[in-house]
Amino acid sequence: MPEISRRLDFFTESIIRRMTRISNQYNAINLSQGFPDFEPPAEIIEALKKVADDGPHQYEITWGAQRFREALAKKQSKYMGVPIDADREIVVTCGSTEAMMVAMMTVCNPGDKVVVFSPFYENYVVDTILSGAEPIYVPLRPPSFEFDKLELEAAFKQKPKALILCNPSNPTGKVFTLEELEYIAYLAIKYDVFVIADEVYEHIVIKPHQHIYIASLPGMYERTLTCSSLSKTYSITGWRLGYVIAPDYIIDNARKVHDFLTVGAAAPLQAAALAGLEMPEAYYEDLKDLYTRKCGLFLKGLEEAGLKYTSPQGAYYVMVDISEFHKGSDIDFCDWLIKEVGVAAVPGSSFFKEDINSYIRFHFAKKEETLLAAIERLKTLREKAARGIY
Ligand code: GLN
Repeated sequence: MPEISRRLDFFTESIIRRMTRISNQYNAINLSQGFPDFEPPAEIIEALKKVADDGPHQYEITWGAQRFREALAKKQSKYMGVPIDADREIVVTCGSTEAMMVAMMTVCNPGDKVVVFSPFYENYVVDTILSGAEPIYVPLRPPSFEFDKLELEAAFKQKPKALILCNPSNPTGKVFTLEELEYIAYLAIKYDVFVIADEVYEHIVIKPHQHIYIASLPGMYERTLTCSSLSKTYSITGWRLGYVIAPDYIIDNARKVHDFLTVGAAAPLQAAALAGLEMPEAYYEDLKDLYTRKCGLFLKGLEEAGLKYTSPQGAYYVMVDISEFHKGSDIDFCDWLIKEVGVAAVPGSSFFKEDINSYIRFHFAKKEETLLAAIERLKTLREKAARGIY
């Protein structure tokens, strides 16, 4: 038989999706793949019902329905603090996953280098490889997940085409400070590099932390491709609605990539999601309160279970240190955790370039009752681990 593409040699199936599959198989509480188990806002569901009757059901403009882009431009201009042109500076994609791939294919030539912080969300390296580029890793060292300025500059000296910035960050829960962002911006300008920002957790920030959009820094809008989605902000991860925002000369090209990859995001869902984009400011404040409460509840539970963690500042993930229980593979540990404790997590090694096996990632985008049930189970972890982890 003919040979399968060699590109596939460089990556395995998604570990995050694998964990969900195994979790379902063993009926565990799934705190691995990050998605809510509560309903989206009622306004969005009502709008979806109406769209079922009234349409649209056919293709929309490939780069996004006019009204959707207008509502998105209005909302993002307000929160990002930069004026965004709905007609020239947006391409609507199938989730931020496509947005990131489109961004990479738009700016990278085969052989280009791309700076990626480690730990990183697993898609980034696959995006890099699929676009023919090569990652340069810069560590964010636990437990504070700060970068070393000299190490970052050394990466820029290798003449990368772009840097990928996930802020608020998956999997660490880090929210980059103004000082850190200013330093990244300084290097991006000095070495003439694009920034591809994944900001899907832009509205999920644990109080009192604040998210700053890198595109809002002086001189950065011109060189930033801001990727985000409606998945997390409106609890609609299955709708696959995302976007890239960038200056028109970038978007003109990003639209071509997007058009040939997917033609367009689902037309009925763009129409229904308008109800989300038009939410008042109070919605986003309430969302922060909601996640600040969930985070507090879950961290308290981890403490009661005697588990060590690094405190998240944003997004909905927490890294738990498992080194005192297990020295071997964290994948084995997570499989054991599903089967013996009944809770699913993601092995941290799937996020690190370095050989680090001592963390697992939980997410807390779940109803309080789900989190409390998970905590009850996690309280049995110590004792069960003492009996041995296979
Ligand atoms: N971003 C989520 C996570 O990291 C979901 C990933 C996915 O499966 N698309 O868990």
